[in-house]
Amino acid sequence: MPRDYYDVLGVGRDASGVEIKKAYRKLALQFHPDRNPDDPEAEVKFKEASEAYEVLSNDEKRQVYDRFGHEGLRGSGYEPNFTDAGDIFSAFADIFGFGDMFGGGRGGGRRRGPRRGADLEYPLRLDFLEAAHGVRREIEVTRHVHCETCNGNGLKDGRTPSSCNTCGGAGQVIQQQGFLQIRITCPTCGGRGQNVSPEDRCEECKGSGRQRQSEKLTVTVPAGVDTGMQLRLVGKGEVGDPGAPPGNLFVTIQVQPHEVFKRDGPHTYVTIPVPYPVMVLGGDITVPTIDGEETLHVPKGSESGKVFPMPKKGIPRVNGRGPRGDHHVQVVVDVPKQVSEEEEELLRKLADHHDTQVQEKGFWRWLFG
Ligand SMILES: [Zn+2]
Ligand SMILES: [Zn+2]
Repeated sequence: MPRDYYDVLGVGRDASGVEIKKAYRKLALQFHPDRNPDDPEAEVKFKEASEAYEVLSNDEKRQVYDRFGHEGLRGSGYEPNFTDAGDIFSAFADIFGFGDMFGGGRGGGRRRGPRRGADLEYPLRLDFLEAAHGVRREIEVTRHVHCETCNGNGLKDGRTPSSCNTCGGAGQVIQQQGFLQIRITCPTCGGRGQNVSPEDRCEECKGSGRQRQSEKLTVTVPAGVDTGMQLRLVGKGEVGDPGAPPGNLFVTIQVQPHEVFKRDGPHTYVTIPVPYPVMVLGGDITVPTIDGEETLHVPKGSESGKVFPMPKKGIPRVNGRGPRGDHHVQVVVDVPKQVSEEEEELLRKLADHHDTQVQEKGFWRWLFG
């Protein structure tokens, strides 16, 4: 035996049409299948509430039910019969208003009502070290916002829109394609379900309900960002339809190359020319890191091209997820382009010592006259 319809909706037997509608709307939102995926109990409650509403919102059916109950409805062919939640949705589309209450509806293609604003993208160029350490940057973004004059509804003061004639306010129309019937967004009203006659339009925004505005925003870039990463500024995209949220602003990071440092994710690399005697005998050298200069010990007998890692002296991971990267110092022999007389003498002595053939002194002068 089905439950009493008044009990289902939680209203009195003398409830007005408005009260019934309100009670149903509340239950429908609570138990709608889109909000309770894979919850058969919620679906049953949703159907139950919808049945009750179908009967009690109709004067004729309500009278029959009041006098004869469920039996009476069956006898008069008024018994509600929904096969799935989709039927309910189309039967009571009016009660759900034009709001995109259920995040786009079921099946993806049944989007109706106001649309969320579009996302925007802003490319942000950063110096190598700004990206490594993080930075606050002020950016100026031009986007559409609600028109201040009409509060975004596109209407002159006191005017109201009329229901769209093409779709009857549903925001969608059915189109025949071969054997298939498909729903498409109403081409006349763009899915809003409403139309505004030209003389009722807000003069400021010509009825669009939106205006372009430049806004200065402060972007806090966390340390460690890299090229291609995006920061999301929620709600800073284009304005949505009235009742729908605005889009988001995506700040896309582009990191400029550095003269000295190379980078691979959180790891940094640098190549340092080191005098030959230091490579041979060992010694301390000064190396650049993203934090400034550091001292690195080069052990004696280091080969040219050898890489010395400096753990955790690289770039921080974005949002502190994990340790800092490593800094890698490659040492190469510093070959001077020019040497003093004294240095040349010493080098020649060294060559003699090794019994090595070197270019005769003054060879180049002789060659070029
Ligand atoms: Zn306006
Ligand atoms: Zn329409």
